[in-house]
Amino acid sequence: KAKQRGRNTREYFNQQLNEDSKRRSLLEQDLYKALERDQFYLLYQPIWSVDGSRIESVEALIRWQHPTRGMVSPNDFIPIAEESVLIHSIGKWVIQEACRFARQLSDSYANAPKVSMNISSSQFRRGNVAAQLTDELTALKLKGSALVVEITESILLLDEQKIFQQLESIVSMGTDIAVDDFGTGYSSLSYLKKYPVQRLKIDKSFIDDLESNQDTQSLVSGMISLADSLSLKTVVEGVETQGQLDLLKQFGSPMIQGYLLARPMTGDMLLTLLKNRTTTAVEK
Ligand code: C2E
Ligand code: MG
Ligand code: MG
Ligand code: MG
Repeated sequence: KAKQRGRNTREYFNQQLNEDSKRRSLLEQDLYKALERDQFYLLYQPIWSVDGSRIESVEALIRWQHPTRGMVSPNDFIPIAEESVLIHSIGKWVIQEACRFARQLSDSYANAPKVSMNISSSQFRRGNVAAQLTDELTALKLKGSALVVEITESILLLDEQKIFQQLESIVSMGTDIAVDDFGTGYSSLSYLKKYPVQRLKIDKSFIDDLESNQDTQSLVSGMISLADSLSLKTVVEGVETQGQLDLLKQFGSPMIQGYLLARPMTGDMLLTLLKNRTTTAVEK
């Protein structure tokens, strides 16, 4: 009987595995057509100064409007894109679109929020992100300081010269490098010494139980102090409650991103939000 059950479980898992890989390859096929069919768009989520007085930057977050599945989360398709050459064309599209939006913001505001974009490690490894950014900045007559580039900790652990050179060149244009999902990787902090990094984004997983867990509080306040003593700017992501915000204020966190203050929104919605906040931006 146990044997029978074992076989059933195995069959179940095999079937499940097949379903997953079928779903994945179907998604991959559709992904190839998504760019030319104009199915991607970017949303922008504000990153606020902790007192809520200013939108310092906005994070560009990709969305895929699938014809039958509806909106597909980047968590579901970016990993698939990263396994193929697709990430290069999608990544390039993101850079172009985000830079165009940065241009639009700079046209309207003297102290426009920066536009922060997520770049996959394979874009650095098998492409040249620095060159792409330079091209866009030149074409749009935009300053590098209008942008922020978000990378993950894992890319710094790769310890590759090609990546290092691109990061150096990006920073030399005035663009900040932010380490995304900080604290979730291997956290060999020595990379902070070696690489040109200006920002840490403390991962949402540290914020979820911030109010109920003393250890998490120590960790988060420690990360904020660490960043501060290294002259790094900190963004805390995934802030959903007033209680979390109050604690982060106490810890001296400079910047906040999360549903409590704003969800990701379209570019038009963001422009409207900025327009209605006279304290946020100085209109040109
Ligand atoms: P991420 O870069 O860490 O982005 C933050 C994610 O947290 C976003 O999810 C955002 O919508 C979500 N978030 C922000 N505040 C809150 C909150 O208060 N509560 C909750 N529950 N979630 C919050 P999203 O947009 O689904 O993106 C997921 C991930 O997909 C991103 O994580 C990033 O790793 C990746 N991604 C998104 N856009 C791009 C892109 O253009 N290129 C690349 N390579 N990756 C991207
Ligand atoms: Mg990010
Ligand atoms: Mg993040
Ligand atoms: Mg995250």
